Formats: sequence, structure tokens, C-alpha cells
Amino acid sequence: MKEILTTIFTTILVFFTGNNQEIEYKQDEYIVVKQNEVKEEIIEDIKPERTYISTNTVLSTPLSSTSNYWSYPSDIKETTRNGNDLLVLVNKSYKLPSTYAPSDLTNLSSTGIINGSNYYLRSILINDLKSLVTDAKADGISLSVVSAYRSYSTQVSTYNYWVQYNGGSVDAADKISARAGHSQHQLGTAIDFSSPEVNNQLGVLFNNTKASAWLKENSYKYGFVISFPLGYESTTGFNYESWHYRYIGKANALEMKNSGMILEIYLRSKN
Ligand SMILES: [Zn+2]
Repeated sequence: MKEILTTIFTTILVFFTGNNQEIEYKQDEYIVVKQNEVKEEIIEDIKPERTYISTNTVLSTPLSSTSNYWSYPSDIKETTRNGNDLLVLVNKSYKLPSTYAPSDLTNLSSTGIINGSNYYLRSILINDLKSLVTDAKADGISLSVVSAYRSYSTQVSTYNYWVQYNGGSVDAADKISARAGHSQHQLGTAIDFSSPEVNNQLGVLFNNTKASAWLKENSYKYGFVISFPLGYESTTGFNYESWHYRYIGKANALEMKNSGMILEIYLRSKN
């Protein structure tokens, strides 16, 4: 069934994006879709984004005992802080305007992170990311990036992909992918990490890597914090994502760590 749906969606993708794509199947578990980025208003030459899809992400992540934790409320509001604000709360209740895009997107090649030349984040965090990558390397940890800035329009495509992938199930998609406007990736301060330990793939394979453990322990020193920690699905509205970190600045990250709050609760207290 899943193969049939994947084929259908592949056909749809090809229909919409022409020849600029390669689709590769790996052991029936991973589908690597390379598609040209939807035309960017801010950066014209943004590199194609790779979306690694793992069935494990959907099938092996335990569901919270709270029912419908992934669903969206009926009264969705616009974010109270501007998108440029490092402490803006973006979740299932608060969405960014479709017109919001950061104005200082910078290529990650200068940070030394693996595959950095394919991705962009805000210039405000580049030096801290570079320090994080350098210090991790000194500890024997190699880090790669598998997703970073995503425009509103790219997020529309990403979310729709997951709906199609799950046989049209909005519930399944809502557990693992934010709807457009509700994704921290639109801020240009959210990054999905991976590691050569798992062939730089995105997904649950990253959970038990040395890189994941290093980030959990050290990322706050560089201003990065995990957005969707394990065991807090009913609070964040998303399944556990060991790879997804958001930059809130070093001072804020330290304050958050000392408070014992997860990012979602910390930001609610600030918005
Ligand atoms: Zn992410």
C-alpha cells in the first residue's frame, strides 16, 4: 500500500517539479527525494533540499497516552512576537504570517558542519554554530545538517508530502510535520542535525548516536536547545525529535536550562 502511495506521490511530484529530481530507494526503508526548492523570494540560489523519509519515524515512535496531542486547536492565532525575535513562540496555536522570512539568511559552509553548503540559517547564529561544530569535533563528534531554513512555501510542500505519504492521514502527518506557518524551520533558527554515524540520515536512527548524546549535554552552551524532547509529546504537540534544535541565544538557553523548563514552556512564559 505504502509503495503504491509513494508511487502516486512521486508521480505528483514529477508532475509539479519537472525533471529536477532524483528518487532513490534504499532497502525499502528510506526514500531520498531531492527536489528543487520551491522558488525562493529571499534567496534565489538556495540549494535543493533533501528530505529523508523514514518509515521508522512513523511506525516506531511511541505515541503519547494523551489522545489527539498532535491536533491543532480551532482558534489559531498569529505569533505575538515578530519572527525575527529569538523568543517568538511558534507552535500549534500560534503561527507565523505566510509573508514572514528572515532577511539575514547565510550559507552554513563557513561553520564546518558536514553538508553545510546546502543549507541556510540566520547570520545571528553562525558564529555560535561554528563554535559548536568545532568543539564537538575536538571531542571526536562529527555533525552534519539535514535541514535548516524552510520557507513558508517549502513547508507547504513538506507537510503535504507527509499527508500523502501517510495515505492522506492528516493525523499521522500532524504528529511529525508542522503545517505551514507553524514550523520553527521558517524562522531560520531551527536545524536538523545528523551524523556520519548514521550516514547523515534524518530520523530516529539519530536517537542513539554519540552525536545526539553530545548535543543533549552541550548544545545550550552555544545557544541551541532541543525543541521536542522525549516524554513531552502532549505538551509540544510533536513526537520526540532528537535531531531538531532551535537557536535562542546563549543567555536564554542558559536561563532555560537553569529553569528546568522545556523550550515550549519556556517560550510560553515569554510570549
Ligand atoms: Zn526539524
